[in-house]
Amino acid sequence: MKRGDVRMLTCAGCGKRFRWVCKKGSLPKWCSDRCRKRTLYSGVCVDCGGRTYGDRYSAGPIKRCKYCAHAILIQNTKAASRCRRDEIVAMWAEGLSIREIAEELGSKYGSMGSEIGRLRREGEPLPRRHRLSPDGIAAMRENGKRAARHLADERLAT
Ligand SMILES: [Zn+2]
Ligand SMILES: [Zn+2]
Repeated sequence: MKRGDVRMLTCAGCGKRFRWVCKKGSLPKWCSDRCRKRTLYSGVCVDCGGRTYGDRYSAGPIKRCKYCAHAILIQNTKAASRCRRDEIVAMWAEGLSIREIAEELGSKYGSMGSEIGRLRREGEPLPRRHRLSPDGIAAMRENGKRAARHLADERLAT
């Protein structure tokens, strides 16, 4: 064979015949790099025992099939959101204002207000606590900024 000759070879991965133009070096085993990785980096899923396949981005054998990998991602996301809920509920019980909770969790004040509203609708123990008597509101109004903040809290929390 000389350079430029064309041969049909069989891929060791997918078994397809592919066209190869002779150049120096040994005969290729794979029809494509994708096929090589898919075959070499296949393995057994550590969770379900199913077959895993590498892809062109793989840098080594694949430990977990894409379904199990996805399930783990969902679990982690759920755990993270559970943790955030618990934190919000705990801070609420400690009497922190929405503004303070937002600051603690690095959220915006407004979005924390709607998050608390949503958690409350979903049944989290976040009792309304900014209900003030008219006298109380009048007294607080005199306290200027502080009252305004509480009224804003109440509006958001209601
Ligand atoms: Zn192939
Ligand atoms: Zn799996």
